[in-house]
Amino acid sequence: MKIWSLISSTLIPTTICHRLDTCQKPCLTTALPDLSILVLESGPTTKGKTEHIQPGQASTHLTPTSKTIQFYSSTPSEFLGGCSAIIHSGRCVEGGSSVNFMAYNRPAASDFDAWEKDFGNAGWSAKDLIPLLQKAETYKIDPDGPTHSSNGPLKVSFGENEMLDIGKQFLDIGPKFDKDRARSEEGNTFDEDSINVFFPCPKWISSDGRWSDVAEKLISSTSGSMNHLPKTFAE
Ligand SMILES: Cc1cc2nc3c(=O)[nH]c(=O)nc-3n(C[C@H](O)[C@H](O)[C@H](O)COP(=O)(O)OP(=O)(O)OC[C@H]3O[C@@H](n4cnc5c(N)ncnc54)[C@H](O)[C@@H]3O)c2cc1C
Repeated sequence: MKIWSLISSTLIPTTICHRLDTCQKPCLTTALPDLSILVLESGPTTKGKTEHIQPGQASTHLTPTSKTIQFYSSTPSEFLGGCSAIIHSGRCVEGGSSVNFMAYNRPAASDFDAWEKDFGNAGWSAKDLIPLLQKAETYKIDPDGPTHSSNGPLKVSFGENEMLDIGKQFLDIGPKFDKDRARSEEGNTFDEDSINVFFPCPKWISSDGRWSDVAEKLISSTSGSMNHLPKTFAE
């Protein structure tokens, strides 16, 4: 029996799981049933808790007494008027994806290419990684789009609700004010045309209004053994 240990996070399951060529489903345990996986994690579990299911509860994680977010404080800087910068970071099962604001963002392809070309990581270029990101998602808005997909476990949509008037007005006025930045329907195709535009931002939310996070979609729901996630030390 092989044992793998993973420091848990948002990105590790979504990337490593999909790199296994043998895997038809995006799940390590499906690809390698003999594998035992030790998930090292800090903070509480998330499974079944409404504050990780209902998107409207996202901001509750930011309270000063939050147990699901770690707040880091920088040394004071003269460039911040003598203040510290506060950086928040997920600290619960699957980290940031369980507590963030669910905005669907993807980088420029050139950023991925730099990992391979500039930093010597063979196999981590845009052409290697974009298919893995496609495999992870069901993009309800344009499932047949060239860099999107309709089969992955993580759901992307605008949620149940129509955009508020303030959002529509922002998209209308933004390009008139900021003339170098165009209005687009798509802001996530990895290329110059879709980076740095005003666009309606999709969310990691299923079309029935449920938070689509990595913990629920890639850990809790994929394997019986992983359902026995132990309580973390913090609980
Ligand atoms: C409040 C908030 C809102 C955000 N909103 C958005 C958004 O709308 N859209 C967007 O694209 N991004 C957003 N982000 C950023 C995004 O969530 C993160 O960039 C992303 O999740 C980082 O993924 P990661 O895999 O690098 O790290 P993380 O997902 O942060 O993983 C780090 C893991 O390490 C664990 N850990 C920490 N300390 C220890 C320890 N001592 N021992 C063991 N494990 C430990 C943590 O529990 C966590 O699971 C937001 C982040 C926050 C905090």
